[in-house]
Amino acid sequence: MTSADVRVLIVEDDPGIAGSLGRGLTRAGYRTQIAGTVADALAADPCDVVLLDLGLPDGDGVELCVSLRARSDAAILVITARVEEPDRVAALDAGADDYIVKPFGFAELTARIRAVLRRSRITDTHLLTHGRLRIDTRTRQVTSGGQEVTLTPTEFDILECLATDPGRVVARQEIIERVWNTRWYGPTRVLDVHIAALRRKLGDPAAIVTVYARGFRLGEVR
Ligand code: CA
Repeated sequence: MTSADVRVLIVEDDPGIAGSLGRGLTRAGYRTQIAGTVADALAADPCDVVLLDLGLPDGDGVELCVSLRARSDAAILVITARVEEPDRVAALDAGADDYIVKPFGFAELTARIRAVLRRSRITDTHLLTHGRLRIDTRTRQVTSGGQEVTLTPTEFDILECLATDPGRVVARQEIIERVWNTRWYGPTRVLDVHIAALRRKLGDPAAIVTVYARGFRLGEVR
């Protein structure tokens, strides 16, 4: 992954600081978006790294950190003033990956972004994510928006099958072969039963899309 593929969300209410960070990171090849409030940060597009200023006008930065951590695997880099040490500690406890103290140089910032990305790549290789969905293939745990979803082993295997390459249509036969580990030439109606259960447990019928005469793909999980 080059910096051109890395999406950075800048959560900063000072337009001057946000603008200069945004311009600098864009020049360095990152894709950036800026959120000036807690509400904007929660409504932002998915990203790989969050630069999070803790002092925000409409809410608590530490609580925002908890919410962001619950809904995504983005690396969170907290930006604090030196006087905010208790907040900084609270932010790390709330799931932030690292922090950087103002004032900081741009080279230090990009070095820390690269470092948190490296760490998250290494530790998260067993994690499949798609929107609000997190699938841990090692512990076989699934969460949606931070809420645990309890699946049967078969349901988990089907979901893993679809989530390995989200968006790709996976043929019914391929799912049957991968999940039941067998060549099955009979009716594949059994698959529909499990898919229906998965949709119900994920709380959204659109979570798994039926592609007529082809198979299934993962949809947006809301
Ligand atoms: Ca601020």
